[in-house]
Amino acid sequence: MRGIVHDISERKKAEEKLRLSARVFSDAHEGIMITGVDALIIDVNTAFSEITGYSRDEAVGQNPRFLKSGRQSNEFYTQMWQTLGQSGHWRGEIWNRRKNGELYAELLTISALRDESGAVINYIGLFSDITETKKQQQELEVLAHFDPLTQLPNRALFADRFAQAIAHSKRAESLLALCYLDLDGFKQVNDHFGHETGDQLLVEVAKRIKMNLREGDTVCRLGGDEFALLFENIQSIQQCEDTLSRIHQALAEPFELAERHVRIAASSGVTIYPLDREDPDILLRHADQAMYQAKLDGRNRFKLYEHLAQPSNVSSQRPSRLEQALAEVGQALAQNQLRLYYQPKVNLKSGEIVGMEALIRWRHPERGLLPPAEFLPIIENTPLEIDVSNWVLRQAFLQLQSWREQGLNQQISVNISPRHLQWPDFIKTLETLLAEFPQISSRQLELEVLESSVLEDLISVGEVLKQCYHELGVPCALDDFGTGYSSLAHLRHLTINTVKIDQSFVRDMIDDPDDMAIVESVIALAKAFKREAVAEGVEDLEHGVFLIDLGCCIAQGYGIARPMPADAVLGWVANYRHPPAWNRSAKTERNAWHGQLELLKLQQQYWLRRLEQCLHGDNIETQPRWPVATAKKSHLGRWLERQKSERSVDRQILERLESAQEQQHRLAQLMWRSRQEGRAAEAGEQFKKLLEVNLEIVQLLEHCELLF
Ligand code: C2E
Ligand code: MG
Ligand code: MG
Repeated sequence: MRGIVHDISERKKAEEKLRLSARVFSDAHEGIMITGVDALIIDVNTAFSEITGYSRDEAVGQNPRFLKSGRQSNEFYTQMWQTLGQSGHWRGEIWNRRKNGELYAELLTISALRDESGAVINYIGLFSDITETKKQQQELEVLAHFDPLTQLPNRALFADRFAQAIAHSKRAESLLALCYLDLDGFKQVNDHFGHETGDQLLVEVAKRIKMNLREGDTVCRLGGDEFALLFENIQSIQQCEDTLSRIHQALAEPFELAERHVRIAASSGVTIYPLDREDPDILLRHADQAMYQAKLDGRNRFKLYEHLAQPSNVSSQRPSRLEQALAEVGQALAQNQLRLYYQPKVNLKSGEIVGMEALIRWRHPERGLLPPAEFLPIIENTPLEIDVSNWVLRQAFLQLQSWREQGLNQQISVNISPRHLQWPDFIKTLETLLAEFPQISSRQLELEVLESSVLEDLISVGEVLKQCYHELGVPCALDDFGTGYSSLAHLRHLTINTVKIDQSFVRDMIDDPDDMAIVESVIALAKAFKREAVAEGVEDLEHGVFLIDLGCCIAQGYGIARPMPADAVLGWVANYRHPPAWNRSAKTERNAWHGQLELLKLQQQYWLRRLEQCLHGDNIETQPRWPVATAKKSHLGRWLERQKSERSVDRQILERLESAQEQQHRLAQLMWRSRQEGRAAEAGEQFKKLLEVNLEIVQLLEHCELLF
């Protein structure tokens, strides 16, 4: 017997090793993906399929890009490839998308395999699903920023919001109030009824505070029974005090907790930026000091930081900040630094200029031209307020006279503060002025009173307005209509000739159907009570087109002209050209169906333009507000809902419109996220896609136009 003996132990070992490698590959809990140098997938393991939802057959031959979620920017991938090229491996966290559309987070390591010559032959990706860990991280983040009991922002988040609010106040030149609120008698509740009741009480307190805030205001729990509140964009100290007294009243109402009647109260202190121009820490200390003073003064009250409050009686004391500011405005008046600027109102249909609104400015020797929000709040409720207001009235008469001499007969609207209107000599002053300027007809003057101020004292304000109109012939307009819980009843009983729809509604109506509904109903209300409606805040051509369509003819806004110095008015009037788009809209008689579709197309255009502006603005903070980005809330969304129930349009077309519209909003949202996270290139790509979808929508709408 002959035989050849081969020692195969080496081969056996190699086979064993191979089998082991194969088992590691197939049994590992980590997803494994092997690609060629061209980055196309050659093989994946079972864990890969479990994590991504794609089978081996579906994955092989693909570029791993097919898992991309769009969460990472292109720069991110460029960087990844660069590192891989240089060092041969890369490790990091990536968000990808599973086959079912779900996002997941993975911790990924990529290594380049090289042959003997050092050339890359394969890439191996090894990853594990870390979505759960990520979620826990997010929950921890919530815990780190929110108070678990009341769900209010905690001290850490408050610091953030406070810094943002100060930045906003600087930018928007608006007042920001910071309030420190501490409950009176909370310890007793805890001692008497136990901690559980104490906790419940805090939750209820948080709710009551929140209920009395406006959108945009912030309340945080600093700890224990201490809260901090931020009121942004307040118009006056008075307004802040009004809000606070509402909150205090709400907190003083008994609480029903576990069948117990619990009563507490609160003390709070306020300071106001930039009247109190200090760092955040010091501002908080000032508010705290004022709160402490409120406690000393007998609890259940609020107190303004003392250097902002009452002018001191002792003359030897240093004047308070507010006193100083007040003295400065007094000087401005005496030294002739105040000016009236004028903003025209036009008839959208005829192009006729129907009047000018006088808006006060302070030509400050150092700080430049200041808007009223910078100095009117300082003089509010002081004798200087009456002096300045009388100066404004007189100035308006002088201006009317001067224009008259130059051949321009216009109406001037003057803003009248509530206190001026209720000043006992108001009517007499007006009468004297009318007598002093006999060539000026009383109809050439119009008083603008804020809707909110009228509501405060309906009876006495109503009486003054009645006298102005019936005895002196001076008409009156209700300003910023819609912002002050207006009711039909008020409009009926007031002697007013005009309502001015607040600019915030007009500005946003094309984008936001809710604002549009308000504008529409104010116009209808005005018609029903035979008052004129004036739209403020007409910033773009589209606003005018919509207003014409809604039947509101008088408009004012940056889209027509910004407020200008008196000596620019004559030139402006001589050169004014009414936009042809408005002339056209005024003339076209559209049937209802075509009208609707025309407006929808216009809305699409406007929406895109707004999105584009947001996309290209370079500072995210000073960005215009992002247009409405939910399909249901948009004008088109609501129109589609109506059509679906009316069944006048082919269902297939409606469905196509609906899906295009959803795609459009999804893209807008993605774009928003990309923009927020600084991935500009990606946002640009998304916008391009959005333009395509938009084109499809417009074409479908045009198709609908042909139907009737
Ligand atoms: P208002 O009476 O509602 O005046 C309209 C304000 O909106 C003006 O701001 C005007 O410049 C601004 N505006 C006009 N068109 C547009 C637009 O298209 N877009 C935007 N974003 N804004 C527009 P201004 O001059 O800063 O005045 C603010 C407020 O101060 C006035 O609101 C009025 O309530 C008050 N005010 C102004 N002058 C006087 C005055 O002489 N006396 C009194 N008591 N209050 C005044
Ligand atoms: Mg006004
Ligand atoms: Mg207004």
